[in-house]
Amino acid sequence: ALIVAMGTGTLSEVYGELQRAVGATERLMELLHAKNEILAPENPQDAQHLKASLDLQNVTFNYPSRPEKAALSNFNLTIPEGKVTALVGPSGAGKSTVFELLLRFYDPNLGKISFDTTDLRQLDPHQLRQQMAVVAQQPALFTSNVLENIRYGKQDASEQDVIAAAKAAHIHDFIEQLPNQYYSDLGEKGVRLSGGQKQRITIARAILNNPRVLLLDEATSALDSESEGAIQMALNNLMQGRTTVIIAHRLSTIIHADNIAVMDNGQVVAQGNHTELLVQSKLYSKLAARQFKEL
Ligand code: ATP
Repeated sequence: ALIVAMGTGTLSEVYGELQRAVGATERLMELLHAKNEILAPENPQDAQHLKASLDLQNVTFNYPSRPEKAALSNFNLTIPEGKVTALVGPSGAGKSTVFELLLRFYDPNLGKISFDTTDLRQLDPHQLRQQMAVVAQQPALFTSNVLENIRYGKQDASEQDVIAAAKAAHIHDFIEQLPNQYYSDLGEKGVRLSGGQKQRITIARAILNNPRVLLLDEATSALDSESEGAIQMALNNLMQGRTTVIIAHRLSTIIHADNIAVMDNGQVVAQGNHTELLVQSKLYSKLAARQFKEL
């Protein structure tokens, strides 16, 4: 699963956050290494004026460390603006890889990924990532206070903006009860947060950044029921009016998705809404019966 949670800062900011937040796992090191190889074009096109739709056409990709196996092969998916696209599939199907390619941590070996109709390779990677926010399963917060953690990626946000985002993320009341409210330190020596509280901080950060595209990796692990409800409401606020791609594990998410792509072995093997897929795809019915949680 994708373990990166980031705001929309510059590459070096993201790098710094990753280092602070999660330590050097092998995969992350590779990701960071790969990022250095991603080149910005000399005359990048302006992403801000493009439509916030994404399209993967005949994409084949293998990780540099694993040239013998394609993580995605001949992969096709259209992600329309303002809609919810869910990715489902067994472990190793390539769901997180789709996110990594959309963020342009890697370029495909074959095929093309476009933002609107523009190839990602013709955009400035920094500006591309500014259009996007990632909400990951294991949110990465850094050792600083709550305010700075939410403001991360949008340094010019006022305290009022931060509070409004925290309210929309259903974490404001919790923050108000901390010893120093928004100035309470997080991390080892500061306040310890539950998984659900961390996630809502990340959601507040994303709301503040106001991205046009949202990449959401839904939690597989059970959260306490209070957190579940609050997170769902926070996510609904965040998703409002944005292009959303979700690696989905919850039945309620899948039922509300505009389009579900069923992935297996690096390919899309079926597509449609929940009802259609139950009839059309054996793999989907199997996943629905075994994997999707009723929450
Ligand atoms: P999960 O549901 O378990 O998170 P997934 O559908 O997100 O799985 P990916 O993580 O995208 O699947 O992995 C797709 C394939 O690529 C798998 O075969 C995986 O082992 C491989 N893979 C993923 N990341 C790397 C990497 N950094 N280096 C080499 N191979 C990788």
